[in-house]
Amino acid sequence: MRAFTYAGHPTRVVFGAGTIGRLPEELSRLGATRALVLSTPGRADLAQRVRELLGPAAAGEFTGAAMHTPVEVTEHALAVVRESAADCLVAVGGGSTTGLAKALSVRTGLPQVVVPTTYAGSEATAVLGETENGVKTTRSAPEIRPGTVLYDVDLTLGLPVPVSVTSGINAMAHAVEALYAPETDPVTDQLALRAIELLAEALPRIADGPGDRAARANALEAAWLAGTCLGSVGMGLHHKLCHTLGGSFGLPHAPTHTVVLPYAMAHNAPAAPDAMSRIARALGAPDAPTAVHDLIRRLGAPTNLADLGLAASKLPRAAELATATPCPNPREVTREGIAQLLADAFEGRRPAPAEPLADSLHTLLGQVTASLAGAPDARVRQLLTDLTRRLHGFVADNDLSDDEWRYAIDFLTRTGQQCSDTRQEFILLSDTLGISSAVDLLTNSRTAESTPSAVLGPFYVEGPPPLPDGADLAEGLTGTPMYASVRVTDLDGKPLAGAVADVWQSNEDGYYDVQLPDIDGPQLRARFRADDEGRIRFRSILPSEYPIPEDGPVGRMLAAVGRHPYRAPHVHFMISVPGRHTLVTQLFVAGGAHIDDDTVFGVKDALVVDFPEHHGPTPDGRPAEGPWRSLDYTFRLAPAPTPGDR
Ligand code: NAD
Repeated sequence: MRAFTYAGHPTRVVFGAGTIGRLPEELSRLGATRALVLSTPGRADLAQRVRELLGPAAAGEFTGAAMHTPVEVTEHALAVVRESAADCLVAVGGGSTTGLAKALSVRTGLPQVVVPTTYAGSEATAVLGETENGVKTTRSAPEIRPGTVLYDVDLTLGLPVPVSVTSGINAMAHAVEALYAPETDPVTDQLALRAIELLAEALPRIADGPGDRAARANALEAAWLAGTCLGSVGMGLHHKLCHTLGGSFGLPHAPTHTVVLPYAMAHNAPAAPDAMSRIARALGAPDAPTAVHDLIRRLGAPTNLADLGLAASKLPRAAELATATPCPNPREVTREGIAQLLADAFEGRRPAPAEPLADSLHTLLGQVTASLAGAPDARVRQLLTDLTRRLHGFVADNDLSDDEWRYAIDFLTRTGQQCSDTRQEFILLSDTLGISSAVDLLTNSRTAESTPSAVLGPFYVEGPPPLPDGADLAEGLTGTPMYASVRVTDLDGKPLAGAVADVWQSNEDGYYDVQLPDIDGPQLRARFRADDEGRIRFRSILPSEYPIPEDGPVGRMLAAVGRHPYRAPHVHFMISVPGRHTLVTQLFVAGGAHIDDDTVFGVKDALVVDFPEHHGPTPDGRPAEGPWRSLDYTFRLAPAPTPGDR
């Protein structure tokens, strides 16, 4: 059975759109005739508007309210209160202005009418935090609580999105901590859950459309509910930490709440499982801390303390200060625990999902891998089991949403649909993610003495036309003439007579024949057979850099991450000799474009080769009108792997 004590608070709340017009009436209810209007410097225009609205009932204004209610500002404002002989305080603005009204009211006994324009929630509490000599202290007393709160949705329409978001998460923090406070009660529980639900729905809409009045109304209503929670129960570690970081290290109030909340929740989750699952339900997500983290990230708000300007060197001191005095918290507050929490918040790491969910995921993965255990082929079993494990890990670590998974499936479907006899989008995908190069590194480049391999790429066509020694691959094509004379040897330099070399490359504009629908038959690709010296000679043109095809899903992926699509200029070779490891490689033109940032990560230093420039007679005696290039290279082939090797 749950035992509780509940006390309702006597604040009068007026809520709606355009309600600022009801301010004179509210002052009359209080019998006030001389109101001092308070604001921050940034909201001085609003203070002026309110003065005009009040007419003779306005005694003056003070527009110097500041965050964390510095005592010197309060003293300055007190002088203005006295000079103006005010009989009432009207605060228009966020928590900073409300804080000043509370500080003045508790010193003078004047009644307060608060018009909140953020979601801080201070207007609903009897708590006052003040800063003096860099130390923030709070006190609580019934007379601090404002007697009248007037919410006008229209005044929040211009609240900038970044402030709206962090202020909204500040409100959410009040609701979250109310749910695991020691003195919870059913009324506060319901207010808190409703506030969380409203904020989770309203904040993304506000971020997408700041003028969305319905969303603004929901956020403001949530701010009131959450503020009421804050005013009803004692707050835990989260508020304590934010208070420390704001008061002693000057961090901004709402952004600090925004960064710390998911980590404080993750820290407290093991000690407050019921509260967390209720919060998760209100958020419509399986795990509360990660859902809050993801919401904050989706809203574009800060996610780490480093970005708020906190130096890493201050973390130990912050942990020390936060543990110096106790706070009501479901989990025991220890220096080590806080240090870890702060380290996570400093880095902005996504909190790990809480145990119950991790357990379910673990069980599910166990069922799937067990279903693969009977695969008769050991290698199939190993690869499929490990792939499944890593995919499950990927899904869990990133808390993948249904939409994201559908997108991934659609992306792969489109990749398949893009494939044809002359277009291999899956190879492009593998190449651009560096997987082809990784497989190539593991499979092919295993001896230091053999020529390194390189990726096959998407443009190889089986069975290129055989051409005789010295033939011209580029018959009739424009470009800088290139004369290649390459040798194929074993690792000791012994020629490998009869070696078969498939050669293919792009034209002067960077296109392969298969990309050009108007071309009839193969172009710039051929099969040569080495002579007794292992030598192959052919004429071609100098290859140039080229973009991989950009009109498919892979092109869109590169564009989405801001990557260029270019490959460094190269000639492909596939060389096979019976009893030797087939060598698939590329020779890159030294000094060519994108040698250092080839989009498929295919360049290896040993494959960057000089193609020196020449003038005058060519090796085959043809007249040359301009300069020509040569390629001289020896391919060294390793013995074929023995069966059983990998
Ligand atoms: P804030 O009041 O400092 O406002 C943030 C900025 O937004 C200010 O520059 C302000 O001029 C501007 N602004 C406010 N409303 C605007 C609007 N509608 N349109 C455009 N600009 C607007 O910040 P806050 O987060 O609302 O309040 C933080 C302060 O409140 C801190 O000092 C904190 O300690 C205190 N607080 C106290 C309690 C409590 O119960 N005692 C609760 C929450 C917050």
